[in-house]
Amino acid sequence: MQIYNTLSGKKEEFEPLNPPDVTFYMCGPTVYDLFHIGNGRSFIMSDIFRRYLIYKNYNVKFAMNLTDIDDRIIQKSIDQKIGSDKVADEFTKAFFDDIKKLKVKEADIYPKATEHIQEIIELIKQLELKNLAYESNGDVFFDVSKFPGYGKLSGKKLDELESGARVEVNDAKRNPLDFALWKKAKAGEPFWESPWGNGRPGWHIECSAMSMKHLGESIDIHGGGNDLIFPHHENEIAQSEGASGKQFAKYWMHFGFLNINKEKMSKSLGNFFTAREILNRHSAEALRLLFLQTHYRGPLNYSEDLLESAARGAEKISNYYRLLKEKLSDSSEGKPFDIDLDAFKIKFEAAMDDDFNTPQAVAVLFDLIKSTNKQLTEENSLNQSSLNEVLGFMKASAIDVFGIISEQENQPVRSGLDDQLIRLLINVRTEAKLDKNYTLADKIRDGLTALGISLKDGKEGTTYNIN
Ligand code: AMP
Ligand code: ZN
Repeated sequence: MQIYNTLSGKKEEFEPLNPPDVTFYMCGPTVYDLFHIGNGRSFIMSDIFRRYLIYKNYNVKFAMNLTDIDDRIIQKSIDQKIGSDKVADEFTKAFFDDIKKLKVKEADIYPKATEHIQEIIELIKQLELKNLAYESNGDVFFDVSKFPGYGKLSGKKLDELESGARVEVNDAKRNPLDFALWKKAKAGEPFWESPWGNGRPGWHIECSAMSMKHLGESIDIHGGGNDLIFPHHENEIAQSEGASGKQFAKYWMHFGFLNINKEKMSKSLGNFFTAREILNRHSAEALRLLFLQTHYRGPLNYSEDLLESAARGAEKISNYYRLLKEKLSDSSEGKPFDIDLDAFKIKFEAAMDDDFNTPQAVAVLFDLIKSTNKQLTEENSLNQSSLNEVLGFMKASAIDVFGIISEQENQPVRSGLDDQLIRLLINVRTEAKLDKNYTLADKIRDGLTALGISLKDGKEGTTYNIN
C-alpha cells in the first residue's frame, strides 16, 4: 500500500512502525463555533482512511484533538459574556452531534488541550532544559535556530521563511519565526499556573504533548488540512523531535481545501456552509460520496449541483443494495451473476492502495452496479451464494469503508427530496406573486412556516431555513 508523504514529497510504501498496530493522529477542531463542510472534508476523509486501514486488518488507534482554549474561544467568551469553558463545552457537544450525523466513526481518544496542561508544561520544561526554548517576560518561545531540521516538512529554508512568513511579530522573540509554547495571561483571560507564571499553552504544543502521551513518541500517521503544514505541523515536529530525539510521525498526510468559487471555504471569508445546514438538505451519504469522488490531496470546488449529483449517486448505490437484499430473501437456486467478482475486489483494493484513490475505487463500485443491474432487476431468481458474495463486498466497501449506504435500507432512498419539494413550493410561490396571486403566495409561506420552514426573500431569490 502506498501513501503520499508530505515529508518526502512522494508516495511511499506504507510500513507501520509496529504492524499490525497503526497509530493515527488528526488535528481536530477548535471548538468556538459550528464546523463547516471544509473542516468536514478533513474529518470525513480521515475517517475513510482509518476505516480502510481497519479493512486491511490493521489495528488502528485513532486520536483527534479538540482545541478547547484559543484566541477565538476567548474572543467569543468576551463577546457573549460567558466563560471560555462554556463556549468550548457548547461547541464540543455540537461537534460530536454533527460528526455522528456525518457517519464519522468515533475516535478512540478525543484529547482536550485543557485536560493536558501538566503534560504540556512538562514538555516545555524539557525543551528549556535542552536549550530549545527560552522565557521572555512570562511568555515561552521555541528557538527555531536551535532545531536543525526546521523547515523539513514544508520544504522551506529558514531564510525563505523569515522573509515571507506570516508570523506573529513580537519584540519578545529572538527570531520572528520563534513561536509561543506558553502565553502569559492577559487581564481577564483564563489561565493556569506554571513555572513561568500564569498563562496558557500555545496551539502547537498541545498536539505534540497529546500525541506523545496517547500514541507514543513516534507514531505512524499524522494528518490535517493543507493549511496546517506550515506553521502548525512544522512546529509540532520541532517541539516533539527536539524533546524526544526521535522521529515524531512517519507519514504526514494533508487534505486539499474545499473551495467555493475557487476560494478556500473559511469562517473568516464568510463563504461557508456549516455541516448542519448541509445535513438539513442532504444526507451524510451524499456529502461523503461528493468528497470521495475527488482525490483527497486535490482541491475540491464545492457547488450545489455537484452535491445534488452525488446525492443521486448515493441513492443509486443504496437502492441497489436494498434490491440485493430483497432478492436474497426470495431467491433460491437461480443463476449466479455473470461477473468475476474477484476482479472487482482487486480493482477496488488496487485503487485504495494507491494513496487512497477513492474516485477510482468509487468508479469500481458503479461499474459493479452497471454490470449486475440488468440481471438483478430482470431475473426472477438468482443464485443465493452469488447474491451473498456481492452483498458482502458491497457491505465491506460501501458501508464499512465509505459509509455511503443509508441505513434505512428497507425503503427506497430519496435523499434531497425535502429540498427539492421545498424549492418546488418556493418556485410556485414566486410565480404566484408574479401573477399577483398573493393569497396563494401567502398560503404557501404560512404553510411552510407551520412546518418549521421559514422563507427569506432576498436579491438573489428566496432561501429557506429549517428551524
Ligand atoms: P480548525 O477548526 O479551523 O482548526 O480546522 C479543523 C480542520 O479542518 C483542520 O485540519 C483544517 O486544516 C481543516 N480545514 C479548515 N478549512 C478547510 C477547508 N476549506 N478545506 C479543507 N479542510 C479545511
Ligand atoms: Zn494539531
